[in-house]
Amino acid sequence: MTLAPHHKARGLPRGVPRPARELCSDCGLCDTPYIHYVRQACAFLHQQFPQLEQQSHGRARHLDREQELYFGVHEEMMAARKRQPIAGAQWTGIVTTIATTMLTRGVVEGVVCVQNSATDRFAPQPILATRPEQILAARVNKPTLSPNLSVLEEIQRSGLRRLLVIGVGCQIQALRSVQDKLGLEQLYVLGTPCVDNVNRAGLQKFLETTSRSPETVVHYEFMQDFRVHFKHEDGSTETVPFFGLKTNQLKDVFAPSCMSCFDYVNGLADLVVGYMGAPFGWQWLVVRNPKGQQMLELVLDQLETQGVSSQGDRHQAVQQSIPAYDRGVTLPMWAARLMGVLIERFGPKGLEYARFSIDSHFTRNYLYLKRHHPDKLEAQVPEFAQRIVRQYNLPD
Ligand code: FAD
Ligand code: SF4
Ligand code: SF4
Repeated sequence: MTLAPHHKARGLPRGVPRPARELCSDCGLCDTPYIHYVRQACAFLHQQFPQLEQQSHGRARHLDREQELYFGVHEEMMAARKRQPIAGAQWTGIVTTIATTMLTRGVVEGVVCVQNSATDRFAPQPILATRPEQILAARVNKPTLSPNLSVLEEIQRSGLRRLLVIGVGCQIQALRSVQDKLGLEQLYVLGTPCVDNVNRAGLQKFLETTSRSPETVVHYEFMQDFRVHFKHEDGSTETVPFFGLKTNQLKDVFAPSCMSCFDYVNGLADLVVGYMGAPFGWQWLVVRNPKGQQMLELVLDQLETQGVSSQGDRHQAVQQSIPAYDRGVTLPMWAARLMGVLIERFGPKGLEYARFSIDSHFTRNYLYLKRHHPDKLEAQVPEFAQRIVRQYNLPD
């Protein structure tokens, strides 16, 4: 049995700088004795996609096939939504449904997920759930950096052997690197895409600059119609076009880790549940390997599904967005709304919308690394991201 990673190692106390310094995404690994493996495991100290894809899926992604270049190793993609959505979930609650079903059917004995703290609905509180109601209480995004892996130590103590971990890309990269040290018989990984994450103070600034009523926001999402949708406590919805965001004020709001991240689609999870490759209102599922298929099959009878589709051409819109973002251009609201209407009608849809979002973020992040951490550029940007970025003309 491989339990203690190193008999003397301890996690770092909260507040102490982590080995990745300002690039740390607070994935939680360094809160545990597994910090012993940080040089190898941290997504920001050691980028190792091909090796970890090989380990997780039996092969690395095919870089010469556009579908895999963008969305990673996969067997199947689909759009889906729950016939009976879970109230209060981020979308229709497919993630929560898969996790509770795996637990109640005994496929796993515990689930790593993230609830919110008792005093702040957006402050993350990672837990090792062993009851379905604990997973239900973890539904909806906590749109902030979350130390999900901080519960790894608890797993070791609990003696659980079959585990599901729900998490975003940087957390899953570190998890994959140490999974053999956890003493598990079975590990399942349910991922979500992730981009533009923030610390709690950054979230406050984003809400205050963007929403008409920051203190009543209960949920928000950047949606496929090129608008941010805020849901408020009274049930009302507010939408703000992407092109109307106060880019000049928001430039520094995203965490440096997230400005240096190229794992938007969570390439190492067994199954990924997002929305960006699906039609508006639907979720987007990427099945990466047989374990992901097994997880999906457990809940298929509760889902409405359809194939994925693609429409439009993103390249021009991405190329134009690069200098606009770089210079922090903010359009007047009337122009932003008009742009929003035009791009929604004629712009990229389905998988092409997902590629639009990936291209815009990868070019932005590439420029960020080039300017702020030029020494890391070579090693930190995986080959798939370099190929994507090379399609565009970037400013110096
Ligand atoms: P629910 O059933 O509501 O479950 C949500 C699950 O997410 C919970 O189990 C919880 O444990 C977990 N979770 C919540 N917050 C965090 C966190 N901070 N870190 C790790 N796990 C968390 N999808 C896209 O297609 N494009 C995007 O750009 C995109 N950006 C995202 C950014 C963030 C910060 C997060 C957390 C998710 C993002 N997603 C994105 C995923 C999407 O918003 C939904 O989470 C996903 O579609 C699942 O919806 P659901 O209704 O099935 O989830
Ligand atoms: Fe440690 Fe995770 Fe931060 Fe890397 S990102 S330094 S592994 S807590
Ligand atoms: Fe982690 Fe990347 Fe999401 Fe930031 S954008 S929280 S680094 S997966």
